Amino acid sequence: MSITSEEASKIKEHLLGQLENFPEDKRSQITEQINSMTDEQIEAFIEQNKLGHLGGGCVFCSIVKEEIPSYKIAEDSSGIAVLELNPLSKGHALIIPKEHLEEVPVSLKSLTQEVAKKLERRFLPEKVEINEIKIMNHALVEVVPIYGDETERSKASEKELKSLQEEILKPVKIKIEEPQSHVDMKEEIPILPPRIP
Ligand SMILES: [Zn+2]
Repeated sequence: MSITSEEASKIKEHLLGQLENFPEDKRSQITEQINSMTDEQIEAFIEQNKLGHLGGGCVFCSIVKEEIPSYKIAEDSSGIAVLELNPLSKGHALIIPKEHLEEVPVSLKSLTQEVAKKLERRFLPEKVEINEIKIMNHALVEVVPIYGDETERSKASEKELKSLQEEILKPVKIKIEEPQSHVDMKEEIPILPPRIP
């Protein structure tokens, strides 16, 4: 097995994502350790540990199984959509097939389209790019809203991802024209003061 440096940084990213529930003092120490690992060390680490708790070595399978926390924005029977931790732009998402396949299955198309449309409506980018990629031999689809001012990927904070997730998940407000009614449904019978003769 040989991994590219892009794959290595993905793995680092996801390992770091796992630290969310660690106590603060340990977290910074481990974060430092992970960040200082070379690509070769990352690879050796995966080999050695077979990433047992990470589900047979594939980070994306682990995300699907919810062994690694992620920011999920949609799901269907064939895949899940999560926010990219190192986004190029606002709303950059990954559509991960639930099965570990080397080719993106056709069944992933509907979720991909759903997410692309959702991001389009929500954030009004110039366009949405859809790319098939493969990391650790797990084929996935990247959905990237393009606003025209993209420069480079940068790490999003937990807070940013959480609020973005909420923003994407909240229902789109649909204006319903309520019929103008003059009749009060709860028609109360007015209680008149007793008549004084
Ligand atoms: Zn996988």
